[in-house]
Amino acid sequence: MGKVSRRKFLGAVGAATGVAGAAQAERGGKKAARKNTANPGPELRDDVRELVEKTPFVDTHEHLWPEAMRVAALSKPDPKIPAADFSMLFCHYVDSDLQVSGMSGADYRKLTSNDLAVADKWQLVEPYYNKCRNTGYLLCARETARILFGEDDLNKDTYQRISEKLAAGVKPGFYRHILRDVANLEYCQVNALESPVFNNDEPDPELLAQDLWTVSLSTALSTDTLARLTGKSIGTLEDLHGAIDWCFNTYGPRAIATKNQCAYGRPLDFAEVSDADAAPLFARYAADKKSLSDAENKALQDHLMHYCIDKSAEKHLPVKLHTGYFAGHNGMPLEWLRRNASDMCPTLKKHKNANFVLMHIDYPYQDEAIALAKHYSNVWIDMCWAWIINPAASVRFLKEFLMAAPASKVLTFGGDYRPVEPVVGHAAIARRGVTQAITELIEEGWLSENDAPDLVDRIMRGNAHELFPYDSSLKNWRRA
Ligand SMILES: [Zn+2]
Repeated sequence: MGKVSRRKFLGAVGAATGVAGAAQAERGGKKAARKNTANPGPELRDDVRELVEKTPFVDTHEHLWPEAMRVAALSKPDPKIPAADFSMLFCHYVDSDLQVSGMSGADYRKLTSNDLAVADKWQLVEPYYNKCRNTGYLLCARETARILFGEDDLNKDTYQRISEKLAAGVKPGFYRHILRDVANLEYCQVNALESPVFNNDEPDPELLAQDLWTVSLSTALSTDTLARLTGKSIGTLEDLHGAIDWCFNTYGPRAIATKNQCAYGRPLDFAEVSDADAAPLFARYAADKKSLSDAENKALQDHLMHYCIDKSAEKHLPVKLHTGYFAGHNGMPLEWLRRNASDMCPTLKKHKNANFVLMHIDYPYQDEAIALAKHYSNVWIDMCWAWIINPAASVRFLKEFLMAAPASKVLTFGGDYRPVEPVVGHAAIARRGVTQAITELIEEGWLSENDAPDLVDRIMRGNAHELFPYDSSLKNWRRA
């Protein structure tokens, strides 16, 4: 234990999080009394938990369906939206654990459809659920059921009630309730998969900040999309650069970051390819999209990726890149993943003015991610999704990160979900992990108790506020 009194420890919390002082002082007094127990260990954990519970996260990564889509699907089933029953908690990520445990794709689709009675769905899923209920994904489903629906477990006795409560919760405004009131998030950053580049029509940008999605501008180029958005035909590299500029000029002021997940389709070794070399490649591509060899396609992608990184830096938008583990199942080329961090080095070195956010801790190569954040001033590591991929590895990662790299370089939460409900469970698991990491660092003597309040505030929300242009993007939404 540090030399700081319990009163001072919790007193500092109020200053760090801006919570009013009176309630803090009262709680601090209680804690000061508790300090005189023989075993201070559990008490420390309680105090850290209290601190972490009341500190809001900035959620730096989601793919939430538009709320209006969820509400509309209640009365008119939408094949893109799973049924509003317990299977909503099994639809994203859990689908992988279920199928890796032996469930067929056809049975999984029945599980989330509107065509099967809830009781039959339970019959279908129970054997596979029992095989994988130990994982972070399923823990997240149960934590969601506990916090959002008041059910201690998700099992044969509760699936029916959970289904009813889940459906009853879907109504206008439920995103705000779940994300702000229940999960205690300040705001979320969303990579909207319904919009090819930018969700221009987000009705609540204060809650749901929007990424500018660069995939169709670069690594999965769609000139048709760009021509439609800009109203101009694109025949030359100059036209293409003009269309990309248009996207950054039009959407950039309201965007919170740029986002690219090309790591699902290729290594992250972006070679430098000049305008002079890229122009003839693009001219051939424009005439016939299938005319380029794999190597030529890669060269064109590499050129456009660097172009988008330059534009991101110019607009002060952090560059978010998927690194590490793949969503889905039966397809991950681990040899690419293990090179993600080293492949990025030349690009990190070249674009000194761009800020890179490497997502998902590059799991399972999180040691390399820590090395990059420690070495490169323009690298941040985002723990989004990682807490449910492997909660234990995420605790280890956070402890090791905080013993190695500047604390300003880590972002500690993003749900990375399509459905909004499990963001609640994911945030609870992340809070449990942050609590464990900070408590253990103090207990093991690596971190002073006195430093904990500012550190917790920084890693849960402060770093995100320093890095991302939330206030200015919101001003620009209000002007638009
Ligand atoms: Zn994602």
